Amino acid sequence: MMKRNLLVFLAFLMFFSISCSSDNREAENTPKNIILLIGDGMSFAHVQAGILASENPLNIEEFRHIGFILTSSADAFVTDSGAAGTALATGVKTTNGAIGMDPDGNPVRSILHIADENGLATGLVASSAITHATPAAFIAHQPSRNMAEAIALDFLSTDIDVFIGGGRDHFEAREDGRNLVDELKDAGYQIAFTMDDVKRINSGRLAALLAPNSPLSYIEGRGDMLPEGTATAINILSQNPEGFFMMVEGSQIDWEAHSNDIKGVVAEMLDFDRAVGKALEFAKQNGETLVIVTSDHDTGGMGLHGFNPDTREITAGWTTGGHTGLMQPVFAWGPGAEKFTGIYENTGIFDKMLESYGFSKN
Ligand code: MG
Ligand code: ZN
Repeated sequence: MMKRNLLVFLAFLMFFSISCSSDNREAENTPKNIILLIGDGMSFAHVQAGILASENPLNIEEFRHIGFILTSSADAFVTDSGAAGTALATGVKTTNGAIGMDPDGNPVRSILHIADENGLATGLVASSAITHATPAAFIAHQPSRNMAEAIALDFLSTDIDVFIGGGRDHFEAREDGRNLVDELKDAGYQIAFTMDDVKRINSGRLAALLAPNSPLSYIEGRGDMLPEGTATAINILSQNPEGFFMMVEGSQIDWEAHSNDIKGVVAEMLDFDRAVGKALEFAKQNGETLVIVTSDHDTGGMGLHGFNPDTREITAGWTTGGHTGLMQPVFAWGPGAEKFTGIYENTGIFDKMLESYGFSKN
C-alpha cells in the first residue's frame, strides 16, 4: 500500500514538473507571438451591435481580460486614425494626420520595427489599402496619411514578411514611375493579386495587393479577405522559430460608421470577429501567443436605441458623422493578458506589448 502511494506521488510529481516546464512562458507571462487586431472606429456600441446581430456568441466574447484606452492625440481631444495608429504602434502621441512621426516630425519606430530587429517575423493585414493610416502607422514615417505613394515606398525599407490589403495602385501606378511590385519581386516577395493566390501561399515572403485602392465593403462583396488573410499570415509567420508580430485591421467598421449605417457596421464587425476567431484558434493550440483586440477611436458616437430579438434588427442613433473622444475597449487573451486591464492611454498598448516581449526601445 505504501509503495503504491509512493508511485502515485512520484507520477504526480513528474506530471507536475512536465506541465510546469511546458507552461513556462505562460507562467512568466512572456508571449513569443503577439497578434494585435484593431477594429477601426470600433467602440462599445459597435461591439454590442455585432453581439446582438449574431445568433451565435462572437469570438470577442471569449476574452476575460478587458480594459479601456483613452484616445486623444497630441493636438486634439478627438483623434484621427493616423495619430491613433501611431500611438498604438509606437507609444508616441502625435498630431492628427501624422504617420510614425512625433509632433516635431521625427520618425519613431513601431513595435513591428522593433520585433523585426529582434529576429521576429512580422506582418500586416487590413481590409483597406495597406498604405491606409492604421497599417501605415506600423511601418511608415510620413508627415501626412495622404502620402500613399511615399507610404508604399516605406514598405521596401522594412524587412516585413507578409502584408495583405488593397492599394495596388500606390505600388504600381505611381507619379515617380517606379514599379514597386517589380521591386518587391526582386526583394524576394511572392506577389498575389487575388485571394485564390493568397490561399495557395504557405511559406516565404508575401505581398498581397488585392484591390487598386480600397477593397469593397463586406456588404458589397469583399468576401473572406480579412479572416482568410489573417489565417494565411499566421500560417506563414508562425514558421519563424523566434516568434512573430502581426497587426490585423478591420478597417471599414470606421467607414460604415462615418455613413451612420448600422447594417454596414454589423457586417464589418462580424467580418472582423471572424479574423479575431482565426487569431484565437491559433493562440489556443499554440499557447505562447498573446492576442489583443482594440479600437483606435470611436466613430459615429452611436447609441443603441432599439432591438428586435425576432429579426435581430437594431435601431441606432448617431451623434456625428465623424469620430468622438470616447474611451475605447481593449480585450486580451493569452500569456500577459492581465497587463491590459484597467484604464490607460492608447500609448500603453505599445508599452505593454514591448514589456510582454521583453524588448527595449533602443
Ligand atoms: Mg484604419
Ligand atoms: Zn474614421
